[in-house]
Amino acid sequence: MTYPCRCRIVDADGAPIAPGLQARTPEGSRPHVGKEGLAEDLGDWLIRITLDDGTILYGCDCWWVPVATDTIEDGFGSVWSATCPNCGGKTMQVVRPGKVQCSQCS
Ligand SMILES: [Zn+2]
Repeated sequence: MTYPCRCRIVDADGAPIAPGLQARTPEGSRPHVGKEGLAEDLGDWLIRITLDDGTILYGCDCWWVPVATDTIEDGFGSVWSATCPNCGGKTMQVVRPGKVQCSQCS
């Protein structure tokens, strides 16, 4: 697992995570189930998740799964391929809302 990574909040309510133990989605993160954001490792096992709508959650407060990062988004509804059409690297970055550029070619 490498951070930061894209992630999606999932509802783990009732899912068995160990014999006799069931996962429950904490009340605080329940309204955010299905949203996506960026998970960052702050150290000391603390994971901060910044949802695309600006909500901040912590890894201990919610259940989340990594999302494949073949695309990048600007958080305003636009999505691009993460692969540069010029050099073929996964190097495309959002430089501002509505604009992406390759970190290698430019
Ligand atoms: Zn490039």
